Amino acid sequence: MSEYRIHGATGDWEVVIGLEVHAQVTSKAKLFSGAATAFGAEPNTQVSLVDAAMPGMLPVPNRECIRQAVRTGMAIDAAINKWSRFDRKNYFYADLPQGYQISQLYHPLVGEGRIEIALDDKNPDAGTKAIGVERIHVEQDAGKLMHDQHPTRSYVDLNRSGVALMEIVSKPDMRSPAEAGAYVRKLRTILRYVGSCDGNMEEGSMRADVNVSVRKPGDAFGTRTETKNVNSVRFVMQTIEYEAQRQVDVLESGGTIVQETRLFDPDKGVTRSMRSKEDAHDYRYFPDPDLLPLELDDAFLEECRASLPELPDAKRARYEGELGLSPYNAAVLTAEGETARWFEALLDAAGSTVTAKAAANWVISDLFGALNRIGKDIEASPVTPAQGGELLRLIADGTISNTLGKQVFEIMLETGEGAEAIVEARGLKQTSDTGAIEAEIAKVLAANADKVADYRGGKDKLFGFFVGQTMKAMAGKANPGVVNDLLKKALDQ
Ligand code: ADP
Ligand code: MG
Repeated sequence: MSEYRIHGATGDWEVVIGLEVHAQVTSKAKLFSGAATAFGAEPNTQVSLVDAAMPGMLPVPNRECIRQAVRTGMAIDAAINKWSRFDRKNYFYADLPQGYQISQLYHPLVGEGRIEIALDDKNPDAGTKAIGVERIHVEQDAGKLMHDQHPTRSYVDLNRSGVALMEIVSKPDMRSPAEAGAYVRKLRTILRYVGSCDGNMEEGSMRADVNVSVRKPGDAFGTRTETKNVNSVRFVMQTIEYEAQRQVDVLESGGTIVQETRLFDPDKGVTRSMRSKEDAHDYRYFPDPDLLPLELDDAFLEECRASLPELPDAKRARYEGELGLSPYNAAVLTAEGETARWFEALLDAAGSTVTAKAAANWVISDLFGALNRIGKDIEASPVTPAQGGELLRLIADGTISNTLGKQVFEIMLETGEGAEAIVEARGLKQTSDTGAIEAEIAKVLAANADKVADYRGGKDKLFGFFVGQTMKAMAGKANPGVVNDLLKKALDQ
């Protein structure tokens, strides 16, 4: 990927990006209460007295939320702090009944880590870049305000109040909208592999605060703005494009960038100033007196580590090294945990006669093509890995040709029947019966005497035509290898 630059009147500008991603922890209960966290419940039906900040209620940390954040830290190679502490971040807002958010400013649970991004998804040869992660801390989410226009009224829904979030803070290591997009996608993949966040950006389980500044290459960092709560990869990239151009325009017309908080307007694709940036001291952070420091013991850390699955980078390397897949195919099959699980179940079902390469190609072209057409995710595939394996076995052992395999797959999709049953019931078995094939070849050659003459006169390309005609005459059921051999013999006579 070439360097991303904004061309201004005074020369080229470089963009500097750091992301703070809020990821909702997958947990049945909230960070400090036993209330449920399911998305989409009726307003104010999942609120305990702690979440409503009733006087005298005390928070109790939920072990599972801490465990998920630690596992996430381990998955990005981060230092885990065995000693961490909760702080109060004080501010007033109608969706925050406590008047403060319990967060971790001074001693976060997770320290520095890294996330490896592909510089070009379509081209694995473009290489990777490590984006530094500064920290991950856990904190409470706030409630939600809902506004009615007629009549003008506002409501508070506290279902989200107290839900556990991980705030994953990157270093200012990204230099283009594409890198930021790749970072968010990769982080989402890792969270979903680990199972610590469902990564559902539409439901708000993952949202990003986008910090952007510009500078002349080689200069010190410029002043940044922070655009809050951006909730899709595309919007993150749009925010950066818009904000970087806006800052260049301001600077080139002699203005200065003020450090401020902005909001992204997805309808117009622009960002707008919301408020000037507040500093940590504006929140009067202090250690929460209701909570003891968190101290993690070795047994807990070991359990966290042991519970991690094979992670995307390791899996991709294994698919390339052990299974011999191309870098592109390995990347595609490991981009989502569900895809990798499906593929591995397919390999198990297919058995040793089917190569990993053949299985990978089938998943990426045939299965993905079909799922795309019917608008389903791989988890909802109408064909199971076991059924796919049966189909690939029939192709591998020569019972049916590749071409027939595609037809059988279509019938499987339509009817839900198994591959063998379809081949059996419809008499689709491939034949290597040389007598039957030779008879059809003789007819094809007789019916196309002019082309036979052309072929023998040097028009080699016509060979494909004869193969096609013979296959057609055999209703697609002839073994293509045998057809090739017999045709060569017949034509070269
Ligand atoms: P604060 O403590 O004021 O919130 P941080 O140092 O925690 O600031 O940084 C917040 C986020 O802003 C991080 O993701 C960081 O990478 C990013 N960031 C910091 N400086 C810059 C900059 N000059 N340009 C772009 N992003 C930046
Ligand atoms: Mg910060």
